[in-house]
Amino acid sequence: MQPHSLNQKEIAEVSEKLRCIRKKPPANLDMQFEKAHDAVFAEMDCLTCANCCKSASPMIFEKDIERLSKHLKLKPGAFIEKFLFLDTDGIFAFRQIPCSFLGSDNYCSVYEHRPKACREYPHTNMRKMHTLLKLAEKNLHICPAVTKIVACIENA
Ligand code: SF4
Ligand code: SF4
Repeated sequence: MQPHSLNQKEIAEVSEKLRCIRKKPPANLDMQFEKAHDAVFAEMDCLTCANCCKSASPMIFEKDIERLSKHLKLKPGAFIEKFLFLDTDGIFAFRQIPCSFLGSDNYCSVYEHRPKACREYPHTNMRKMHTLLKLAEKNLHICPAVTKIVACIENA
């Protein structure tokens, strides 16, 4: 399946908008993001995309390791050895990109047990969104939904 196309001109415009929002975030920023996130994902078919699973590795935390290793019937140490590496910030991430659990049909084979960061991606429906605007700017280059979501946000 082909991923959603990313429009570079649109990304540049939305990046600029995010920089303006960062300078003076509106008071209702979390509420605006929540509304836009829900509206955009109601229309988005992630199964025709999977760009996130194909081009970025989520951060993996202890609870994720416990849950995934139990599901895969592996000891946590064996799971770490097989699937993870420690990044330069000392945080675990998946060794392989695209993700080893992504199927050719774009389904996640561990969906019910997937890492917290996968569940929360692209992190546009979180509290304190003003602290996540740099991350949103980075994710513009991966996730077509982020461009659409930020386009809906009204500046202060
Ligand atoms: S979250 Fe974004 S990048 Fe991931 S599959 Fe959905 S639209 Fe694509
Ligand atoms: S665990 Fe599943 S949702 Fe997370 S990156 Fe891998 S395939 Fe995608």
